[in-house]
Amino acid sequence: MLKNKTAIVTGAGQGIGKGIAVALAKEGCNIVVSDINQETCDQTFAEITKLGVQSIAVKCDVSKKTEVNNLSKVVAEKFNKIDILVNNAGIFPFVPFAKMTEADWDKVLNINLKSMFLTSQAISLNMPEGGKIVNISSVASFIGFEGLVHYCASKSGVNGLVRALALELAPRKINVNAVAPGAIETPGAKSDEKTKQQTLMMIPQKRMGKPEDIANTVVFLASDKSDYITGQVIVVDGGWTLR
Ligand code: NAP
Repeated sequence: MLKNKTAIVTGAGQGIGKGIAVALAKEGCNIVVSDINQETCDQTFAEITKLGVQSIAVKCDVSKKTEVNNLSKVVAEKFNKIDILVNNAGIFPFVPFAKMTEADWDKVLNINLKSMFLTSQAISLNMPEGGKIVNISSVASFIGFEGLVHYCASKSGVNGLVRALALELAPRKINVNAVAPGAIETPGAKSDEKTKQQTLMMIPQKRMGKPEDIANTVVFLASDKSDYITGQVIVVDGGWTLR
């Protein structure tokens, strides 16, 4: 479905980002594997190359403009165009609001939201018609979670960014959408058995999500099958936020 296309996936060293990179590669898409962590980035890269597509691994802290500009430069040297940008990198450290420092706030907002401004601006400049930007938001953009005031604010910001950027890029036939995952089992979202059971009680489908659940939606939004969808946030949560 995505032959002759090239995608950048940020935070692709593990978890949802890795799942997205592998799913896109299985559709024939060339992949730029990017992560702040060189070791896990290289591991995903090794898996992708086995799938027979072209790939490179580029270490990048998406919250830093100089590193994002370097990512854009390195990618341009290897591939003549980038069709798909998946902004997945994100962090979700629990901190009670009363103890939240300015540094805590800035870190989460910079990695989860500013990064999407930086990468989208750098990469969309040379994106061809039919380009797709897919941002990973969260159900926390719609409902509140104690200890995640900064995170909820950052993900609500992602949804706003998606709607406004979709308007600006529509004349160039570039689509901008988001996927809002519910509870997905990843290394970053590890929880103890008690917390997992409490979460499961709130999910009508009675199972945790897998990175593949998010990746399948991203593949759709990255393909021409979603050409008439832009500025939307698609919730993938097993029904968690229905009540
Ligand atoms: P994860 O397992 O922690 O993986 C995130 C990856 O991003 C890690 O490899 C991490 O590297 C990397 N990363 C962290 N900071 C970065 C930065 N500044 N620049 C580039 N890469 C960076 O997390 P996940 O659960 O897969 O989450 C992925 C995305 O889905 C996030 O945006 C998250 O908010 C969203 N999400 C997740 C869930 C869930 O239940 N898992 C639910 C809703 C939304 P290090 O490990 O070295 O930090």
